[in-house]
Amino acid sequence: MSTLSPHPRVGIVGATGAVGGELLLCLEQRNFPLASLRLFASPRSAGRSLLFRHAPVPVEVLTEQALAGLDIVLFSAGSATSRQFAPVAVAQGAVVIDNSSAFRMDADVPLVVPEVNPEAIATHRGIIANPNCVAIVATVPLWPLHRRNPIQRVIAATYQAASGAGAAAMEELRESTVAYLAGREYAARVLAHPYAFNLFSHDTKVDPATGYNDEETKVMREMRKIMGQANLRIGVTCIRVPILRAHSIALTVEFADQVTPEEVRDVLASAPGVRLVDDVAHNHFPMPREASGQDDILVGRIRRDVSDPSGRSIALFVAGDQLLKGAALNAVQIAEKLVG
Ligand code: NAP
Repeated sequence: MSTLSPHPRVGIVGATGAVGGELLLCLEQRNFPLASLRLFASPRSAGRSLLFRHAPVPVEVLTEQALAGLDIVLFSAGSATSRQFAPVAVAQGAVVIDNSSAFRMDADVPLVVPEVNPEAIATHRGIIANPNCVAIVATVPLWPLHRRNPIQRVIAATYQAASGAGAAAMEELRESTVAYLAGREYAARVLAHPYAFNLFSHDTKVDPATGYNDEETKVMREMRKIMGQANLRIGVTCIRVPILRAHSIALTVEFADQVTPEEVRDVLASAPGVRLVDDVAHNHFPMPREASGQDDILVGRIRRDVSDPSGRSIALFVAGDQLLKGAALNAVQIAEKLVG
């Protein structure tokens, strides 16, 4: 791993997008020690500028030449853009932290959640992949539990927000809800199904051989890679729900040994990146509204899985802001480790 300046020159590719906006905020709010910041997007954004530390920064049209002279480039502009431009940035001396799925399962690309496998960062050869948002939101609370009592099996059902599909999907949820309430027809542009007051299976392609869609397959593969558990038994159902921001996940987890809800609460109470929201008396558990804008993953509804008589299984519910910990914040935390 090359040595990075403690004050790197940073670029954001996809700065005008949903994740890009959060990357700007994370760098600003966490006072990232950058020497300079450059922003890139498609020709659609030519002439725009975005505020960083109260000053306008011009948005440049992404070209191969434009990526010269940068130390860290945060990519957040889809897999095709990452595939084309990330190797160019690396060849010109930068370390790339990539939010897309382009390189996540490549054997020589570390897939990193800093609370789980920070040691993998040191193995990079120019590209570090930021995992799928559901995989991050799930592994942050599962990892400390796994270290105490090895996880054998995970069953997950997701409730995924519009923000996971980008800024245009968030707009589609707003517009289609207004149209629905006004009794107007609305022609969906981003998602495949009517979104207002509806929910549907994640809008990625279903593999006819397995019956799982791309999102579900990514979550399963990536959780195994992040946790270093190639044989972890895991099944996932991914559902898009009409929530603006923050993903929720219902998890049922089987451990090697018997476990109690109190033990799980005890471990999670001091786990990094986790906040317990488990107020049974007031029926107050993780909600996407309360997770939005928060760095921590909210965890609650911790209870014994009564369908497993062995006493080795726990059910819980989590909610996490996937634009933050599920994307931008995780990427900036990786960048902090690179310069720290
Ligand atoms: P988005 O809101 O649609 O933003 C896409 C960004 O990419 C925009 O800045 C867009 O620029 C830019 N872009 C698109 N094509 C480009 C091109 N050919 N050259 C340069 N820039 C281009 O999407 P997003 O939700 O932020 O997601 C961005 C990436 O992060 C995707 O790879 C996604 O899979 C990944 N990701 C997203 C989330 C999430 O929660 N949303 C979580 C994890 C990972 P213009 O504005 O000029 O079009």
